[in-house]
Amino acid sequence: MRWALIGASRIASSYMINAIRAQEGAEIVSVLSSSAERGEAYARENGIAQSFTDLGAQLADETVDAVYVSTTNEKHHAQALAAIAAGKHVLCEKPLAMSLEEAADMVRAAAEKGVVFATNHHLRNAGSHLAIRDLISSGRIGKVLSARVFHAVNLPDALRGWRINDAAAGGGVIPDITVHDADTIRFHLGEDPVEVVAKAGTSGLGEGVEDSVMSVWSMPSGAMVQSHESFTHRFAGTGIEFHGTDGSIFARNVMTQEPVGEIRLVTAEGESAVPFETHNLYEYSLGLFGKAVNGNGGPSADGIDGIKSLAVALAVREAAQSAKAVAVNYGGF
Ligand code: NDP
Repeated sequence: MRWALIGASRIASSYMINAIRAQEGAEIVSVLSSSAERGEAYARENGIAQSFTDLGAQLADETVDAVYVSTTNEKHHAQALAAIAAGKHVLCEKPLAMSLEEAADMVRAAAEKGVVFATNHHLRNAGSHLAIRDLISSGRIGKVLSARVFHAVNLPDALRGWRINDAAAGGGVIPDITVHDADTIRFHLGEDPVEVVAKAGTSGLGEGVEDSVMSVWSMPSGAMVQSHESFTHRFAGTGIEFHGTDGSIFARNVMTQEPVGEIRLVTAEGESAVPFETHNLYEYSLGLFGKAVNGNGGPSADGIDGIKSLAVALAVREAAQSAKAVAVNYGGF
């Protein structure tokens, strides 16, 4: 598969370029940047043959099969639509777009064109999360009563740009991290949050956007979910817990891009460590994407998963702004 990168981003250079190249027969042929100078430097540093500043020219390459969109969030919609119109399969970064309508446009356009469209939600590819989902779906903790997600991190200095000061580019911790937590909860529980309440604010980094948020979501099964995301917590550590009628799952250091962490299961029989695989999250996801392009199954997180994680994040932001409970609007999906 021949790939074009839309966006000279850090996530691509730190994770995705290597993960794409780890796929059998995969090649990255070009990168798009809004700056010719940055694009050329990025291409040189990452061993990519061509750089473009014009998306149409990049997409005119008929040998390109798939694109990876990792620009700032406000650009995903137009760029993904152009790639779909050119017949390319699309792996798009989260949040898919700035609004539910835009995200729905992208997913519908891909379905009409018959190309694969995927959302780059990495956590559901982690061996830790696959093991947690197996525990829950096999009934090891009985009926799930509640879940807690703690995903308050210390935003690295290098990422303290548009994420903390540019609402128009999609900044803020809600579009950045709450979308991932929404996807992870949906992945584990197999159901979509119905209603949310939330409080958001700034705690040292956000300029015009929130850098911290806490929210509570109600699920159709009656389970309650408590979620915390922040950019300003240096020592908190991450984790996720599920508490059921027959047991509890305690997972630590698993809300991360690395294949690390630990999981403990506590039931009436006692407490045990849960083993899990430690494969690269992004390589695993790209493996499923490649199979989907070959007509074999779906991607790890598809477009509708991207719409739904965005819908939850938008509801959390609205609830925080209005100080009222907000019903999640999935736009009919
Ligand atoms: P970056 O800030 O690294 O890149 C985003 C855009 O910023 C690039 O497309 C680039 O524009 C521009 N840019 C990069 N460097 C510079 C610079 N020195 N000066 C001016 N502009 C610059 O973003 P991230 O890689 O952190 O995030 C990109 C997307 O990926 C976002 O949608 C984010 O939500 C998502 N993401 C997903 C992760 C995951 O695990 N799924 C993890 C991290 C991010 P241009 O292309 O025009 O050169």
